[in-house]
Amino acid sequence: MELYADIILPIALQPLTYLVPAHLAGTLCVGDGVEVTIGARKRYMGIVLRLHNNRPDYKRIKPVERVLYGGGLVSEMQLALWQWIADYYMTPLGEVMRVALPSALKPSGLSGEEFAERIVERKSEAVVGLHPRLIGDEVALSEVLDKMARRAKVRYGVMMQLIGRLSERGDMSGTVSVKSLGGVTPQIHRLIEDEVITLSYRDVDIFATEGKLHLCKSLSEAQQRALDEIERQSQQRSTTLLHGVTGSGKTEVYTHLIAKELDKGNSVLYLLPEIAVTEQFIDRMEECFGECVVVYHSKLTPSRRAQIYLNISRSDRPLVVIGVRSSIFLPIKSLGLIIVDEEHDRSFKQEDPAPRYSARDSAVWLAHRFGCRTLLGSATPSVESYRNALGGRYGLATLTERYGEGQLPQIALSDTRRAARRGERKSHINKELHDLMQEALDSGRQVMLFQNRRGFAPYVECEECGTSVRCPMCSVTLSYHKSDSSLRCHHCGHRTPLPEVCPACGKGHLLPQGFGTEKIEEELARLFPEACAARLDADVATSPTRYGRIISDFAAGKIDILVGTQMITKGFDFAGVSVVGVLNADNLLNFPNFRSSERAFQTLTQIAGRAGRTDNQGRVVIQTSEPDNPTLQRVLTGDYRSMYDEEASVREAFGYPPFSREVLLTFRHTEQQRAEQAAQRIATRLASYRTMVVVGPYPPPLEQVAGNWHTCLTIRLKGGTASESKRLITAAIESLGKDSHTASVRVTVDVDPQ
Ligand code: ADP
Ligand code: ZN
Repeated sequence: MELYADIILPIALQPLTYLVPAHLAGTLCVGDGVEVTIGARKRYMGIVLRLHNNRPDYKRIKPVERVLYGGGLVSEMQLALWQWIADYYMTPLGEVMRVALPSALKPSGLSGEEFAERIVERKSEAVVGLHPRLIGDEVALSEVLDKMARRAKVRYGVMMQLIGRLSERGDMSGTVSVKSLGGVTPQIHRLIEDEVITLSYRDVDIFATEGKLHLCKSLSEAQQRALDEIERQSQQRSTTLLHGVTGSGKTEVYTHLIAKELDKGNSVLYLLPEIAVTEQFIDRMEECFGECVVVYHSKLTPSRRAQIYLNISRSDRPLVVIGVRSSIFLPIKSLGLIIVDEEHDRSFKQEDPAPRYSARDSAVWLAHRFGCRTLLGSATPSVESYRNALGGRYGLATLTERYGEGQLPQIALSDTRRAARRGERKSHINKELHDLMQEALDSGRQVMLFQNRRGFAPYVECEECGTSVRCPMCSVTLSYHKSDSSLRCHHCGHRTPLPEVCPACGKGHLLPQGFGTEKIEEELARLFPEACAARLDADVATSPTRYGRIISDFAAGKIDILVGTQMITKGFDFAGVSVVGVLNADNLLNFPNFRSSERAFQTLTQIAGRAGRTDNQGRVVIQTSEPDNPTLQRVLTGDYRSMYDEEASVREAFGYPPFSREVLLTFRHTEQQRAEQAAQRIATRLASYRTMVVVGPYPPPLEQVAGNWHTCLTIRLKGGTASESKRLITAAIESLGKDSHTASVRVTVDVDPQ
């Protein structure tokens, strides 16, 4: 009977079936990486999903060419996750493969020669061991050595090194790398020829470990209680939420949990938002767990990512893998614990391209399905997770106080309009904040300022006609960047020099309006001439070294004031910071999204949490024109629970998530009318189902992006099974292809949009 393999390919929507040639029939396994062709000669790396005997009804069935990565490149657990993601997020498996495997492991669409060149091999190294005839035969061995000692000094030296190393390990049948014997190649060849030693190759373990360190700090009483609670809870539930205020020392609680897993021989996956994977944090982890630590993020080179993936798939020893969203796809063996720190952070959800998966929710699923445990941690949990914890689906542990002498910062709201009226506002800084900054600087302390707009000014306006310059491709204003006197689009990257006169009326000058981080940095030089100010945002963080230097300079106290965007809100623990200022909270509050209050609460609480983290009490000033805003009031008192209660009741009343599930459909076309028509057709069709509420079509905040018009539909699923509803949605989208007017409309599907 012929054997067939269904192969997942990073381009095909669904797996394709290939013939397994007889010589591979006994060895090919599910999860192996194989080489196959599509069309005349395009070669691809594919993953074996299933082996079976059912001949597909293709005219000609192609064979699997060869096995590139045997022994299961993708583990069983990972394949199950791929499939869950494909189903849940309504994405073909091929697209899941695209994000799941590092790019260097999946050369695609290449000719034979190019393909062969691109294959990343597991790094291997030459090792030598005693020849079998000498292992355990001490008489024979000493005879050989005696002879050598007299006549071949160099070879004798090599042998003594080898034997020394082997006996140190108490394993005379083991091997030692040739490199570590000092590169005396001719002598080693001679020893192999004389059958004294044997040569073989083994995979290089790129993260070879040197013992266990586990240097955890001892826990405070409150931390110990939280730790005990987590352990108690996780005996009953696969996922537990740790709600701990900023500076409570959640990281320390995690390290104790990690140490316990490693002692059991298990590995740990530690997920963080991209910008929280800082050198400071990695150093701390390496201090604790030595070379068990593996870091995986997007700034590594493609080949490094591939080597890490390969090594993890082979490694049998316990690891602590620290990574961003995509690390959920690493084939870690004996995974005992997944930690998702800052679990509320939006970056755990991939926005573009598909699969639009959530790494946090994937971690929860893995724990549920495979019996590892997942721990979610945050000072400001997402409404979804907190509801799960209150409802008993997750365990809950809390830390309500800061570690040590640190107290939660004292937060004040400062009214920008009132300050302006009274003349108590210089540049963009109210007197209240200015005075605190001055005080901090005078006593040698540091200041962090937050403004969620980069550049110099968010837009420019003509002094004559009032027109603001917009991006020709997107429906947003262009931001003014003073450093190179350009106008830039923060969505598509479009860049143009600042025109001399207004392009609309041809007369007036263009004046910068509003303010961004670049402008603040400039003003600080004027307001605090003695202080050293620096800026951290997407414009300066283009190179990791530059970014790293600013962080280390700030940590070392060489920078007094750090102004930045979202980038400075996470994971930073600078002991010297006593004052934190939010320059304009208004633009955090006014987003047209039902999550905007939750987000504003989270962001502001995180920023405020940067102040006074060790000894003194920090001071935080939030500048706003709406000091009575209830969300701001809750930030003042640090009242997470009342924010949650309010949000939960509003969302329940309106049927928003987590009281329903949402699927967001975005229709894109260069002609606006076609996108709208397609959306309208789907809306009508889906609205007829009892289990769906259809909102829209409506234009998103960014209607036009890079030349495409966007129209949206939000579908809320209530009652019925989600999988059945999703099937109906997929069928509706597919029907667009049958009509030539809508066939060219592209539709993206986002399940649980953020
Ligand atoms: P969180 O992540 O909860 O905001 P961190 O884990 O960053 O808080 O801890 C805040 C500060 O307190 C850090 O400087 C950390 O080193 C210190 N800290 C926390 N727990 C301990 C402990 N048990 N022993 C010594 N220092 C600790
Ligand atoms: Zn643009």
